[in-house]
Amino acid sequence: MVQVAVEAPTHTGLGAPLDYLSDRSLPAGTLVRVPFGKREVTGVVWQGRRDDPAPAELKRITETLAALPPLGAAWCELVAFAAGYYQRGIGELALAVLPPELRKLDDRQIANRIAKLQKASAVAPSATADSPAAELPPPSAEQEAALARLAESEAAGDAPTVLLHGVTGSGKTEVYLRAAARALDAGKQVLVLVPEINLTPQLEARFAQRFAGRRIVAQHSGLTPAQRLRHWLAAHLGLADLVLGTRLAVFASMPRLGLIVVDEEHDPSYKQQEGARYSARDLAVYRGKLERATVLLGSATPSLETWQRANEGRYVRLGLAQRIGGGALPAVRLVDMNAMPKAKNAGGVLSPPLVAALQERIARGEQSLVFLNRRGYAPVLHCGECGWKSACPHCSAWRVFHKLDRSLRCHHCGFSERVPRACPECGNLDISPIGRGTERLEEQLADLLRSETAPPPRIARIDADSTRTKGSLESQLGAVHAGDVDVLVGTQMVTKGHDFRRVTLVAAVNPDASLFSSDFRAPERLFALLLQAGGRAGRDAAHAARSELWVQTWHPQHALYAALKRHDFEAFAASQLEERAGAGLPPYSSLALLRADARTPEAAREFLQAAAELAATLPGADAVMLYPPVPPPVARVADVERMQMLIESPSRAALQRFLAIWLPAIHGLRRDRAAASQRVLRWAVDVDPLAI
Ligand code: ADP
Ligand code: ZN
Ligand code: ZN
Repeated sequence: MVQVAVEAPTHTGLGAPLDYLSDRSLPAGTLVRVPFGKREVTGVVWQGRRDDPAPAELKRITETLAALPPLGAAWCELVAFAAGYYQRGIGELALAVLPPELRKLDDRQIANRIAKLQKASAVAPSATADSPAAELPPPSAEQEAALARLAESEAAGDAPTVLLHGVTGSGKTEVYLRAAARALDAGKQVLVLVPEINLTPQLEARFAQRFAGRRIVAQHSGLTPAQRLRHWLAAHLGLADLVLGTRLAVFASMPRLGLIVVDEEHDPSYKQQEGARYSARDLAVYRGKLERATVLLGSATPSLETWQRANEGRYVRLGLAQRIGGGALPAVRLVDMNAMPKAKNAGGVLSPPLVAALQERIARGEQSLVFLNRRGYAPVLHCGECGWKSACPHCSAWRVFHKLDRSLRCHHCGFSERVPRACPECGNLDISPIGRGTERLEEQLADLLRSETAPPPRIARIDADSTRTKGSLESQLGAVHAGDVDVLVGTQMVTKGHDFRRVTLVAAVNPDASLFSSDFRAPERLFALLLQAGGRAGRDAAHAARSELWVQTWHPQHALYAALKRHDFEAFAASQLEERAGAGLPPYSSLALLRADARTPEAAREFLQAAAELAATLPGADAVMLYPPVPPPVARVADVERMQMLIESPSRAALQRFLAIWLPAIHGLRRDRAAASQRVLRWAVDVDPLAI
């Protein structure tokens, strides 16, 4: 009898591995095919053999995928931990993070794939051909010191978790590369995580150049199923030395793992937002401990959770305070919008001093980057006669006006229609856009920056709309790098990671909303976004002295902007941590969100209330605090009403213990056919939620 983890949906209550009959004992981590209900599914042997007498009705394993070396004990332990921590079934999580192709292939097909890979790597250039060290720039003094401390803490014995806090352009990537070189030389594999799929080609190129002759594979959702399997196998078989990927790659099977790098560790993209809502950053830290691998968390604006752990001495802190080449950080210019005249045509959206500064850049042949976190032309269309607005019929949100294809599109459910010629309510022909998105900003910039004497400025836009077709992002970024663009307009997509050499001005047009958000993490995210965006300016030391970050604000006195002006992350972090401590928020407490979806808000609320009443009867309830159910900011999406309830505890362990008892009880509640729970479409828990 062996235990097999299969993909059983959490709500079936079959989260734990199931018993099956097997003639032979199979090592844990072996992939097998087993009957499950009416189907045959792929599963992972979780416990090799148990000798207790098997009940007669047990089903038998149908096939063993023996060609595939079993998943390692550490991999299984990571999955078991993640499933427990994020409250999902073990098999559900295990199968979700393995390449989907594995489920389709039989043993012979897998053997074929493996043979092909091994043949390919036998003819690939040998690993001795690392590019000659002579071509490398010598590390800066700060990089050198950081690397020395890293080596020191590694030598001290236990695999350290290290925060590399380096200002933008300080050469963090060079530290990753050199740390990776050391791990590779020691015969280890290296895992590098990046927040965005867009950033993988760029980083892959940098690693490929440095480690010519080494096998590097990418793992992210943009790969074809066949590529994903091939890359996964290469890592699992130990043929690939370097794995580079987005959050999913934290589960890459790597038998010789020695180093995990998490670049921009503060980035919200590391948190999975559906299914098992895991944090790849947090799992990377756990995995490092498990496999005795060094974990290097890099950021110019670390998450407050990470910062706090470094303060407590649980992480080693390394700092890079200077830009490479001694370049200055961009000077921060706050434009007080209260003092600006309301320009007629642009509604005052671009202040005269900012327009003048942009014109100056164009005249000097330098580039500027203007960002606004809202795509489309305008967030709402409005009828001045009757007050009609372009609401989405399926969501509690406005449909966004996209001018290019003349559509009204809901960014929550995707519902799209052609823009009406006249107001659908009263027939008024004069319906007008309110507010602006990147599309309109691009148009307004073209207008404002036009001059009689010079050729028209070259303006480009990068956002989710302009980069929909494959390869368009690369070609647009290419144009910026080649100097074919004067002003780049975009959403926060353009603020991350890119090493633009000729940008000397970055402007945030309208960032104020986050100052007063109900989400306690909004200021942290805004500060990181602005500092990171500013980091795109002056990366070329020759231009650094006149690089500027412009912020248009109605609240120039705000403490966040004061800290930004001084590039003072430490002061900002200290004041945020003080607030969090006072309010009992993370990192001083642990949170979970219970979410429920239903056809009516009442049904969702009743379900959460029933869950709360149930909670009160359970052991450990006194260690957690349940808040009343509230709707999220956009309550209705695609005709489904959403409601959420916050659970808080000063102790992570107490919260974990409580969730482990409470959630199975909630499943029971649904099976009891209690009226309220029957009307809920689905519910889920989010442990350590990012947005509340
Ligand atoms: P960060 O990731 O901290 O923003 P990068 O690693 O991208 O910074 O480095 C910024 C620039 O400095 C890159 O163009 C990089 O090639 C260059 N650079 C990094 N380290 C060195 C060094 N030791 N000598 C010369 N140039 C360097
Ligand atoms: Zn009207
Ligand atoms: Zn909608």
